[in-house]
Amino acid sequence: MNFSVQRLTNSFGQSMRLAFGSQFRNSATFRAPRLQARRLQTTFAKMDDSISYKFGPHTIPGSHVFVLSDLSFGFVNLKPVVPGHVLVSSKRVVQRFADLTPEEVSDLWLLAQRIGRVVEPHYGAQSLTLAIQDGACAGQTVPHVHIHVLPRKAGDFPRNDQVYDEIDHKAAEYDKAAKTQSADPSPGPGEKLDLDKERRVRSHEEMAAEAEELRGLLLCC
Ligand code: AMP
Repeated sequence: MNFSVQRLTNSFGQSMRLAFGSQFRNSATFRAPRLQARRLQTTFAKMDDSISYKFGPHTIPGSHVFVLSDLSFGFVNLKPVVPGHVLVSSKRVVQRFADLTPEEVSDLWLLAQRIGRVVEPHYGAQSLTLAIQDGACAGQTVPHVHIHVLPRKAGDFPRNDQVYDEIDHKAAEYDKAAKTQSADPSPGPGEKLDLDKERRVRSHEEMAAEAEELRGLLLCC
């Protein structure tokens, strides 16, 4: 125990030593050590359809991309499970999380964190679900690493974890959703979602408009 405390002290510095010294009696005293973290650099320029991004086999038009970082991009979802369900993907097309370099992992999650901070209040939510389906057996349908960012509201699903069933969709359910889609407005906070209406295929224009809205929000936050 002494050995590991000493090693951690040398690596992480004073705040880590204090936390271990108190043996976590009060976890509030723990301060995240400042390792050599990359800073997230984001840009918003040139997001029109003259440029596009690869999302597995799909081509994402620039107008659907609302934020770029060095190694990742955030874009609106063709079939959102809840209002504000967006995706963050690595710019490099690789299928599995383990295929990412440490720099890409850091950049991807930092961008998801930044996006989450903005979409949660914007969609009147109080929480977030952040999820990766890493490989086909885990439900991944697009073979390109991406984080699902979903704003969550109290009582939005009859069973809270049903959100994972909805992310882990099946093509047949989408066909049904597409046939039953309607222009009904989104439910207010606390209202139960009509999943068939929410999980709908959207038009290019609708998606571009949402991306434009999010771009503006991210610019000022
Ligand atoms: P997964 O099943 O975890 O691989 O998630 C794939 C996600 O990509 C789902 O949320 C789909 O709605 C979304 N998606 C598929 N094609 C597109 C597209 N062309 N543009 C935006 N989102 C897409």
